[in-house]
Amino acid sequence: MNDNFGREISYLRVSVTQRCNLNCVYCGKSGCAKKETELSPEIIEKLVRAFAKCGVKKVRITGGEPLVRGDICEIIGRIRSIEGIETLGITTNGVYLSQLARQMKNAGLDSVNISLDSTDGSTYRHLTGADVLRKVLDGIDEAEKAGLSPVKINAVLMKGVNSDGAGSLINLAKNKKIDVRFIELMPFSDEGENASLIVTGAEILRQFPFLTPAELEEGTAVYYTADGFAGRVGLINPITHKFCRSCNRVRLLCDGRVKPCLGYDTAFNLMPFVNDEKRLTQEIEKIILKKPAGHSFENMSVPHGLNRTGG
Ligand code: SAM
Repeated sequence: MNDNFGREISYLRVSVTQRCNLNCVYCGKSGCAKKETELSPEIIEKLVRAFAKCGVKKVRITGGEPLVRGDICEIIGRIRSIEGIETLGITTNGVYLSQLARQMKNAGLDSVNISLDSTDGSTYRHLTGADVLRKVLDGIDEAEKAGLSPVKINAVLMKGVNSDGAGSLINLAKNKKIDVRFIELMPFSDEGENASLIVTGAEILRQFPFLTPAELEEGTAVYYTADGFAGRVGLINPITHKFCRSCNRVRLLCDGRVKPCLGYDTAFNLMPFVNDEKRLTQEIEKIILKKPAGHSFENMSVPHGLNRTGG
């Protein structure tokens, strides 16, 4: 359905947990996350089914780290079974991907976005708190072998922290048919609030002038390519280029609340209606109509880590 600003809301991001096995400096603390507040696969299915009735066609599972859930393949299978859901992706830090890529593909997953902010072992450890870079790189290979497509890498650059590794991240798109996307640092943690750390999309283009515009694609990223590259480089610029006018998404949090916009604190609880599909769809329609025209990171009272809202 359309919201009050004529945007067709067809994309649902489903956070299945706040728990995470990494502790990325820019994301927010996951220490207080509790397994008990997570929704069961059955309830996730009921909620997503109601969103599908309201016009959602694309779902991305996120978190926290979705692969810490032992029942992740059941969640995938249940969402896959919902009529109207055309594409199903997941966003993961990739640590458990080499073990799970094939099972998730068999359960019905189409695509995967892997967060990787550095290809240098010690920088990676500094950013995430864990010495698991090799596992993530193996996970990328396994995702490709399992036939997940597309495989995309998401990287957040911070000046003086990992920005000097941008070139080697870009090189991952040279030999493999994967997209490497740089996301501008958003204000969701102490580091996120520090605007001086942000590396803008424009700065990346200046630093790598061999990148040339690729064909346009629907969504938040603008893509570039280079001679001899198998994959593409994408820039996601929520800070310097708000893309709210074409925003088609809402977010289901891991406790059953819905956030119509990432950039506002507001969230609406669907749990009281979970056993009444008609009422559920009515409530979802009301929430979609409350989606604001644009984000307002600057006015958020408490910057919530993206581990809570799923990025
Ligand atoms: N654990 C999964 C992962 O690491 O991909 C999914 C959740 S994570 C919150 C989703 C995405 O949000 C990651 O790609 C991460 O880089 C991004 N993210 C987290 N905090 C951010 C921030 N302050 N600015 C920009 N992107 C951020």
